[in-house]
Amino acid sequence: MSKLTEVFGELTFSRAVMREKLSHDTYDRLISTVHSGSALDEAIAEPVAHAMKEWAIGAGATHFTHWFQPQRGGTAEKHDAFISYSETGDIIERFSAKQLIQSEPDASSFPSGGMRSTFEARGYTAWDPTSPAFLLETGNAKTLVIPSVFLSWTGAVLDLKTPFLRSMRALNDSGIRLQRLLGNRLAKKIVVNCGPEQEYFVVSRKLYETRQDLRICGRTLFGAAPAKGQQMEDHYFGSIHPRIIKFMVEFDHELYRRGIPAKTRHNEVSPNQFEIAPLYEEANLAIDHNLQTMDVMRQVAMKHDLVVIMHEKPYARVNGSGKHVNWSIGDNTGANYLEPSASPLKNITFLLTLGALMLGIDKFGGLLRACVADAGNDHRLGASEAPPAIMSMYLGEYLTRLIDEIEKMGKPTEQLMANINMGVRNLPRISKDYSDRNRTSPIAFTGNKFEFRAVGSSHNPSESVTLLNQLCTYGFYTIEKRLTACKGKDTRENALIVLKEVFKETRRIRFEGNGYSEIWHKQAAKLGLPNAKNTPAAIKAFLEKDAIELMEKTHVLSEREVCAKVEIKLETYIKIKEIEYKTAVNMAKTEFLPAVVRQISAVASAAAATKAAGVTSKVLTEEVKKFDSLYAQIKEHAEALEAVLEKAEKQENAHKTAAFLADHGENALSKLRESVDTAEEQLAQEFWPMAKYQELLTVL
Ligand code: ADP
Ligand code: MG
Repeated sequence: MSKLTEVFGELTFSRAVMREKLSHDTYDRLISTVHSGSALDEAIAEPVAHAMKEWAIGAGATHFTHWFQPQRGGTAEKHDAFISYSETGDIIERFSAKQLIQSEPDASSFPSGGMRSTFEARGYTAWDPTSPAFLLETGNAKTLVIPSVFLSWTGAVLDLKTPFLRSMRALNDSGIRLQRLLGNRLAKKIVVNCGPEQEYFVVSRKLYETRQDLRICGRTLFGAAPAKGQQMEDHYFGSIHPRIIKFMVEFDHELYRRGIPAKTRHNEVSPNQFEIAPLYEEANLAIDHNLQTMDVMRQVAMKHDLVVIMHEKPYARVNGSGKHVNWSIGDNTGANYLEPSASPLKNITFLLTLGALMLGIDKFGGLLRACVADAGNDHRLGASEAPPAIMSMYLGEYLTRLIDEIEKMGKPTEQLMANINMGVRNLPRISKDYSDRNRTSPIAFTGNKFEFRAVGSSHNPSESVTLLNQLCTYGFYTIEKRLTACKGKDTRENALIVLKEVFKETRRIRFEGNGYSEIWHKQAAKLGLPNAKNTPAAIKAFLEKDAIELMEKTHVLSEREVCAKVEIKLETYIKIKEIEYKTAVNMAKTEFLPAVVRQISAVASAAAATKAAGVTSKVLTEEVKKFDSLYAQIKEHAEALEAVLEKAEKQENAHKTAAFLADHGENALSKLRESVDTAEEQLAQEFWPMAKYQELLTVL
């Protein structure tokens, strides 16, 4: 394999390629479009399209596609060949400015939450020039990929990128205004950086094939506890299995070719669970790269006869998988507002940014919970291995003391301000040791960034980043308003007075203790912190008046778009639950019951044989009865689950159907699972129709 730096980004329409293929003027105009985030200058679209086509065809591409992020998760693409007729009727390769800028996929099957049926039948995709085009390699097919947004013809949102880009605009506006008020003239553009740590499981293809549940649902619905799970804690950071290392080496290499800066790879807590984390990048790029990472991971694994499992909870009783979204905010000068500094004014920005996020999380904790809610993540949040569903913030002992000091301060004096500044300056040294100790918190300050740990492993991180942006925007506006209302002349003094109020008001979301503990759950309930137990309960938060106001004021989603989003989330939830329950019933009827029959028949013939030999075996007769009763139990529980499916359909509306499936369905499935898992433990190995947990978790 060639040197990292030689292959890095070779599949992207990078700055270097642009410089080579575009005129100076076109290049400069394209770069300035990228920097400003403004619409593409139509005059340069033609030469840019031409250069992209030349580059892509030169590299062996035959097709192009607009690549977008539908609300159902993942990404979508529809390939078009460059083929076209020339004016003389000959076949040529063509890629026009129009094709670069906009495309109209026949997208009627993407979820729109009723948006399209009301307004317009079709949607269109439009190039987002802030994310570079790249080549997609699948087998021997090469396709030029144009990262795009997806909108209806009336401009209504149909994807996850558009709201993100809009949230950046709102954050930019509020952030720059606050900086101006604080006397910062240099900041021109707010920059959000993001580094998503990605957890995943790997399973051998051969074993995977034996499990309908894994193949259809992405998670196991059944499985008795293995003798050796994660109790030895010997997998975490352990030496990596040679077969996995081979896969990881190729995986990293493929990421580098795509310009994705993969940095760390290691074993995670559960057996056969791993993590990959990149260097951080500007958020738009980091999100696109995370989506590509998930895709590339699946493809490379396939080549190694492995299957990557991205589900949040593929196996019961061992850890699930999350995505830790590391988020920081700064500006075009390279400043990170969450990085303590030697400059007193910058440290005021640090504290105000912290305060802004606290205001946002305090007011919209339920919304933050809602944005990570889905059928997969429900199994993870609140179980004692992932953050609880209560959105609190962990700041570390040192920063907590500093904030407490500000909260309790009297009138700000020069001395006090100097002390506080000194306190913030000392933070990095101290927080390195302290900030990462508490793994039970959903939102932790880790030195110079926040780490949002409630995101699911399979999620598009865009929704979380969008909401963090919005919460920060809300905080910035609130602080700006309060600062402007201050009577004093000294900005720093005013800032401290505002911060004192903010820290006092938002005290309840700061929690340093064990987030898994019963005590915290009780205390959080007293403090009025939302704690939705599942998706149907959580997503109601989107429809609250304040939430809709936040969406509209930040111009991220209109009320109509919020309703559509909720509808899509509910529909998706219902479909996933129905598929899971149907799969479970089907497995019970066609795999487990027949297996029990084989066992009964084997034991019964043994009993008959003993009897024929003149010995009436009491034990064997009891065994036949035991397996017969197990058969009856599995059958009964499978039928009960079927009945839940039927009843769910008869509920008045989607919300009720979802809630019904969540409560009654999970209950019925867990009863069925219990009897099936008992059967797994008692049936002869030769009769069990699929790979067991022990193999799935340890054999590669
Ligand atoms: P760990 O959390 O494992 O101790 P780090 O804190 O170094 O490791 O980084 C974890 C992730 O956080 C990485 O993916 C990295 O890209 C991201 N990250 C680091 N610094 C920042 C930052 N300033 N802004 C956003 N993400 C960051
Ligand atoms: Mg981390």
